[in-house]
Amino acid sequence: MEKKQHLKPLKTPVYRDSGFRLDDATVTASAFRDEQEQERKPGYYIYSRYRNPTVVAVEEQLMNIEQSEWALLMQSGMSAIDTALSIFQEAGSDKPWLFFSEIYGGTNTFVDEVLIKRRGIRAERLFPENNRYDPSYFRRRMEETQASLVFLEVVTNPMLMVTDVPAIIDIAHEMGARVVVDNTFATPYLFKPLQAGADLVIHSATKYLSGHGDVTAGVICGNLENLLKKAVEYRKYVGHMISPDDAYRLGTQLRTFPLRIQKHVENAERLAHFLDDHPAVEATIYPGLEHHPDHALANRLFGGRGYGGMITFDLAGKNAGEKKNRRDRFIHALQNTVPLIPSLGDADSTLLPVEPVWGDKYPMPGLIRLSVGTEPCEELERNIGRALDAL
Ligand SMILES: *Cc1c(COP(=O)(O)O)cnc(C)c1O
Repeated sequence: MEKKQHLKPLKTPVYRDSGFRLDDATVTASAFRDEQEQERKPGYYIYSRYRNPTVVAVEEQLMNIEQSEWALLMQSGMSAIDTALSIFQEAGSDKPWLFFSEIYGGTNTFVDEVLIKRRGIRAERLFPENNRYDPSYFRRRMEETQASLVFLEVVTNPMLMVTDVPAIIDIAHEMGARVVVDNTFATPYLFKPLQAGADLVIHSATKYLSGHGDVTAGVICGNLENLLKKAVEYRKYVGHMISPDDAYRLGTQLRTFPLRIQKHVENAERLAHFLDDHPAVEATIYPGLEHHPDHALANRLFGGRGYGGMITFDLAGKNAGEKKNRRDRFIHALQNTVPLIPSLGDADSTLLPVEPVWGDKYPMPGLIRLSVGTEPCEELERNIGRALDAL
């Protein structure tokens, strides 16, 4: 017993228990009553699908990173998206929701297959005009649709358009709509949507926040107490709670998030210039390049901290056939150093060919999306440069 007092771990351990001891029937009754009233009592645990101490410790880290009043961890980015949207759904309401079209493919599928087909929600899309989301065009679409909820990302995937999120939020609020922002690509290092007034921010923590490709997790961050209550309830009712093991691993990885993201951003900026100057590359899309149409906007939104860790580029080629052939050879040449993996935000650089994934949406056979890792930049330039030279 004496000795145990010396055991003072730095981190909250993994509490795998699915249920926690309650002393007697009276305590049980009050525990369940409080739980139903959704009082957030730190240190008060009943059942791990409701609340778990390991998970709460990591949620506190996330509040710090996103500078939010609260954060809730979920099993995946999609669970976070489901929660962030579902809490605004009201039976019988026919107000539409407006989704920016250039969002994560899984979110677009969720909108079509779950929200529209199964739940009968009226979902409208906002398509970019001339490769940008112009706030005045957004205002017109809001007037047309009378949408009550808006969903967007800060940096689009895979074409890396930057959206004037503060302007969009102001217009949406002026018209009485709520705004949910998926901040996975920009990360809180570059931009904090809550500070621009967003109602909720979600992340796929599977990406940069965990950053090692071995956790699937999601998070919702917010400032409003009534939304916290609804999100806590929804997570509990449908069982979107993250596992304590995944939460613990994420908590460890979050300790190096500021370090890692700085290196991602630094490497990406250097590599973008390298690619832009290389004769085997026809075009490089990166908000940090001066010729990127949203370069000035990115400077304004990201305050000089950088432009993110993703680069999209088009391999040179006389025609579609040659581009496709070069793409396949390029991927093959890099298989041992920059592997083809359909995820992003890992410490290891990974790539994804755009056309095979997005199909007709981007019929560009030479297009490659690169998730720049935290390796020494010279090593990346050497490996990628060699693969390009061989084309
Ligand atoms: C990966 C991703 C998601 C989905 O997250 P999961 O953790 O895979 O469920 C949502 N949004 C963006 C931008 C993503 O990249």
